[in-house]
This record gives sequence, structure tokens and C-alpha cells, in this order.
Amino acid sequence: MIYAANFKTNHTRESTKEYITDLQSKLGDKKPEDRVFVFPPLTALDSFEGDFTIGAQNAYPVENGAYTGEVGVEQLSEFNINTILIGHSERRDTIGESQEQVAKKFAFFKEQGFEIIYCIGESLEVREQGIEAVMEHLVSQFEGIDTTYDNFVVAYEPIWAIGTGRSATVAEIVETHNALKQIVDKPLLYGGSVKGANIAEISAISNVDGVLVGGASLKTETFLELVFH
Ligand code: PEP
Repeated sequence: MIYAANFKTNHTRESTKEYITDLQSKLGDKKPEDRVFVFPPLTALDSFEGDFTIGAQNAYPVENGAYTGEVGVEQLSEFNINTILIGHSERRDTIGESQEQVAKKFAFFKEQGFEIIYCIGESLEVREQGIEAVMEHLVSQFEGIDTTYDNFVVAYEPIWAIGTGRSATVAEIVETHNALKQIVDKPLLYGGSVKGANIAEISAISNVDGVLVGGASLKTETFLELVFH
């Protein structure tokens, strides 16, 4: 299983350091085949060492240059960061990244050999139209994406389940993940209100290869509850 913590715009440099120190001391007992990722805010990136991977929540698809306010590969390389989240619904919908921009970012970071956790997900409006509409929408989010890329993990995150406390049902996850695996045969994470109370049933689903976690990842106690469930 993969357990990925997305801090979003939470935690400071100091509190991230405390979090990682706590994680380092407790991950010794995790199953060797499990992988843990942490995506802190960009200002908290550092060269942390341990049985986990630190990634960037976002970056601009350049090495460096005149891109005021952005961070490129040069700034990530300082901390040996070569993992990135691309396509999160908050970047698509709140920040306004188009599929074209997302695909451009994907192509650039693929070229750099980054491990890419690529997020897709539908709105409640689309979900209410049924599985065919959901799949049509999800397939459209692979437009311009090389789904054969080796270093590629997909995260299915229904937007209506993110940060709402309402996870997708087991039946919805089973149906959607089975359909997605037919299209993209890559590790497939589920994201959307994953917490201690539902990790056992979600992780038991055969086509769930891991979870991407927002709210429940913010404290080591609640995140480790998932890793050690
Ligand atoms: C997320 O934003 O990736 C996420 C899954 O958030 P939460 O766990 O808070 O629903």
C-alpha cells in the first residue's frame, strides 16, 4: 500500500520538521513493502531522511528563470525532491489549471524523470449522472498524459469527497477503480475523506493500491493510524 500525506497550505517549516522527526521515529515498524509519501508546503521542503519520500505539491515546469512566485526544478533539486503531485482538483478548480497546462506540467516532469502522482476526480454533479458520465470525465483528465510512463501513480479523488468527511462508498470505489484499471494499469490510490474509521474497508478493496490523504494526514497520530491500521 501507498500512504500519501498532502498537507496543502497547512504546517510551517518548524511544524513540518517536528512532524517528520516524529514520523522518522515511528515508521521503523511499517511493512517494508508499504510506501509513505509526504507533500509539505513548498516553504517547508528540506533534505529529510527516513523510510518515506518527500514530494512537492506543485512546481512550475521549468528548470529556473523569470517566473515570479514560482518554484522550478532547480529549487526542488536542492533538497533532492523528485516526486510531484500533478492535477489535484484544488489546482484545477481553485487555481484554474486547465487540462492543457496540467498535461504540459506532466510532460515536463516526466522528462525530468520525476515520480508523478497524478490526480483525477469528478464533481458531485457528474457523479449524480452515473458511472458512464464519471468515466467519460475521468478519461478526459488523461488527455495529453502519457499513461504508459513508468514512474506514474494515479490518484482517484472524487471532488465531493475531498475534505467533506463523506468518503465515496466501497461500491463506488470498487466500480470506479475497476473501470480505471482497465484504462491505466498503474498503482491507483483513492483519496477523499480517508480516515481511521474507513481505512480498513477502503484498503481491503483489491484495486486500491493506496490512499492520498489530506485532513487525516495533518497530525502524525491520525496519519500513522492509517499506515498501521
Ligand atoms: C486531498 O485533498 O487530496 C484529500 C484527499 O483530502 P481529504 O483527505 O481531506 O479529503
